Amino acid sequence: MIDCIFCKIVAGTIPATIVGESARSIAFRDVAPRQAVHILVIPREHHSNIAELSANDPEALVDLMQLGSRIASDQTTGHFRFTFNTGELAGQTVFHAHGHITSTQPAKA
Ligand code: AMP
Ligand code: ZN
Repeated sequence: MIDCIFCKIVAGTIPATIVGESARSIAFRDVAPRQAVHILVIPREHHSNIAELSANDPEALVDLMQLGSRIASDQTTGHFRFTFNTGELAGQTVFHAHGHITSTQPAKA
C-alpha cells in the first residue's frame, strides 16, 4: 500500500534491522525500543490491524505468531510480551498489522 511505512520495509525501500523472516511475515527491531528487546513482527501483505488479518487471512496470522514465537525464544530468556495495539484509542500509530515482542531480558550470549 502506498505511503505505508511497513509496506516500504517489506519492499526494502526503507531500511530496517531485520531479525527474522518467513514466507508470509518479517520481523525487525523497533526504531524506538521501549525495552531491552523490542521487535516488531508483521505480515508481508498489508492488513490494517491484527483483527483484519485474523478475519481475512488466518494462515498469515498463524505464520506471524509462529515467527514471533521463534524469534522471542531466540532473543529472550523465554519471558516476553507479544502485544497488538489495535485502533488509535489503543495506541496504534502504524496501520499495518504488527505485534510487539518486548522483554527486559535479552537472551544470554
Ligand atoms: P504502534 O504504536 O503499536 O502502532 O507501534 C508502531 C511502532 O512502530 C512504534 O513502536 C514505533 O517506534 C515503530 N516504528 C515506526 N516506524 C518504524 C520504522 N521505520 N522502523 C522500525 N520501527 C518503526
Ligand atoms: Zn502496509
